[in-house]
Amino acid sequence: MSSSSTSSLAPGTASTSKPRVLTGDTPTSTGLHLGHYVGSLENRLALQDEYDCYFLIANVHAFTTLAEKPEQIRANTIGIVKDWLAVGLDPERSTFVLQSEIPAIAELTFFFAMLIPFNKVMRNPTLKTEIETKGLGETYPFGFPMYAVGQCADILAFRPDLVPVGEDQEAHIEMCRDVALKFNQVYCGVNNRTPAERHHLEGGVFPIPRAKIGRVARLAGIDGTNKMSKSLNNAIFLYDSAKDVQKKINKITTGRQSPSEPGDVNNILMQYVDAFIASTDPSRAAEIKRRYGAGDNLGDGHVKQELGEAINALIEPMRLRREKLETPAGEALVLDVIARGVKKANVVAEQTLALAKKAMRVDFGGRVVG
Ligand code: ATP
Ligand code: MG
Repeated sequence: MSSSSTSSLAPGTASTSKPRVLTGDTPTSTGLHLGHYVGSLENRLALQDEYDCYFLIANVHAFTTLAEKPEQIRANTIGIVKDWLAVGLDPERSTFVLQSEIPAIAELTFFFAMLIPFNKVMRNPTLKTEIETKGLGETYPFGFPMYAVGQCADILAFRPDLVPVGEDQEAHIEMCRDVALKFNQVYCGVNNRTPAERHHLEGGVFPIPRAKIGRVARLAGIDGTNKMSKSLNNAIFLYDSAKDVQKKINKITTGRQSPSEPGDVNNILMQYVDAFIASTDPSRAAEIKRRYGAGDNLGDGHVKQELGEAINALIEPMRLRREKLETPAGEALVLDVIARGVKKANVVAEQTLALAKKAMRVDFGGRVVG
């Protein structure tokens, strides 16, 4: 990232001159699944050295569906940080952020909510899909659609350049970009013809972040239709035992009757072959797909066995590292990592809030509480 008119507080300059990454997970379950891995975690791992990375646990947003289960949200939060550590996200290189401890995010959410038309939020396709697939009907709280606005604040509070996410988040990132563009135009005098990538160079508080979609944009769940999700009972978790992984794979149905029946090379099993066998053994994956499509004596049962083995080989080291964290010492480590991350994250988020308030002419000298 190069310099901006707010040079001392430009993106990437709070603690390092590297460009920034922000992304995160909602603690709606005690851990992460294969969809997270191929959709976002792989990119996070790859970006850790070259970017100043902020990984956020959206624990406030977990209250949109679990408001009556605070203990569960707390346990989920700790579980997800354990998975981050188990996968290889490194709190020495990256900053782990707990949303509820970053007050600037809540404040920015309120201001940003004034820049987005209500109907636009309600038309957001990701929200609509979630309402449908999670069976929220008409009962979801006011805060549910509000989380989409909150997510703009999660991201923009860190003024990142890149947001590694799965495809389901694209609509949210688009909304976030719209908010940043509007903010810069309305409050910072950036011309509405200025290209997005030049906004922060021409006086905008916010760089316009870009989504970075994972190797597999949208991994389907073992139900074969919906996106693999923590909340839909269709996920293979990174901490599942080898036996559970195989059991879950064996539950997949394709409707194929025999090994000699030409199979659909785009069905869920073949999507998993692309995701988990092609990555380590492309020629074997190609052969499986050729024989499957031709009905060349390759049964679903055999493919499932190979898939189970490939997935287990991938997640075994993560599972073992997570197991080691399932101790009081492991929990203490997680709490320490959170405390350290919060400290660092608040420095950046408070800088952003100060810049935003100045631009909005609500800079009245800071607050003294108590
Ligand atoms: P929930 O069901 O509670 O919404 P989730 O499984 O969708 O949980 P999130 O915490 O909402 O998980 O998403 C975290 C990140 O992982 C996001 O960047 C999202 O795009 C990505 N992701 C989640 N599921 C998948 C998937 N099946 N394929 C690819 N990326 C995914
Ligand atoms: Mg989700």
